[in-house]
Amino acid sequence: MNKNPIFRLTARRKRLAAAFALFALLLAACRAPAPTAPETFSGERAYTWVTRQCDLGYRITGTEANRKAGDMIVEELRAQGWEIYEQTFTYLETPVRNILAWKGTGGEGGVILVGAHYDTRRSADQENPSLPVMGANDGASGVAVLLELARSLSWDTKTRRIYLAFFDAEDNGRLDGWDWIVGSSYMAQHWGEAGESSLEAMILVDMIGDADQQVYYERNSDPGLSQTLWNIAGQLGYSDRIIPEYRYAMLDDHIPFVQMGVSAVDMIDFDYPYWHTTQDTPDKVSAESLEAIGRTLEVWLESLK
Ligand SMILES: [Zn+2]
Repeated sequence: MNKNPIFRLTARRKRLAAAFALFALLLAACRAPAPTAPETFSGERAYTWVTRQCDLGYRITGTEANRKAGDMIVEELRAQGWEIYEQTFTYLETPVRNILAWKGTGGEGGVILVGAHYDTRRSADQENPSLPVMGANDGASGVAVLLELARSLSWDTKTRRIYLAFFDAEDNGRLDGWDWIVGSSYMAQHWGEAGESSLEAMILVDMIGDADQQVYYERNSDPGLSQTLWNIAGQLGYSDRIIPEYRYAMLDDHIPFVQMGVSAVDMIDFDYPYWHTTQDTPDKVSAESLEAIGRTLEVWLESLK
């Protein structure tokens, strides 16, 4: 320690000056607008969309609850600044509505579609056929991921267009003469007629909210694109949930797009004991599972140039 009083005074002044400078800096930092951090996909926020859909009741195609679910989706997409096209048609005397939202121009960067079905199955035929399915996972989870992506995605909209598709009439297959994947088949067959840009890739998310999550490669999906997505999931630490092994082949809303010649991937967790039962309720779904899928898609979509 130096006991020279002049030096000590100087040192004290220096310390005071430094303290004042720090204080001024903090003050300036408080006044300056915070830099806008890019939004990150939140599983908690996504989960609120699961409960909000289920609160409307059974979203069976042609019912009031289905109409309200569609209206809620449209309202949120508008609030997040997306353009919207509602595609309506009649199937077996039942009104069907697909909702297609988009942002961006789709220049050199190409065009991607991410889809999910928002209708729910009218019969819990794996358990009690006279009762409907609430569809917290089978329906609501995919929609929840899309709506949270609608809020959190940020990309160069001058070079790339992203579509979000909400399919109706996926889930009444084999009931009273209904087919599966009615809405997505219609959208794929009529793609381009309302000015839709040709697609580079299509990702489907279906039944991805199970709290006990295992999402395997799906056999009708594009293998290269599957690997890209599962690799990103691994890098994000989700390899115990989004597992790079083959398991099921699914007839799902990606198939009409595969048949169009689009590289398509179905992200689906078919190891779900409550599938098409009355037990497919929000308590079986977790924010963490929604976040694993949502973050993977967010990182992939935002990494595309
Ligand atoms: Zn289903």
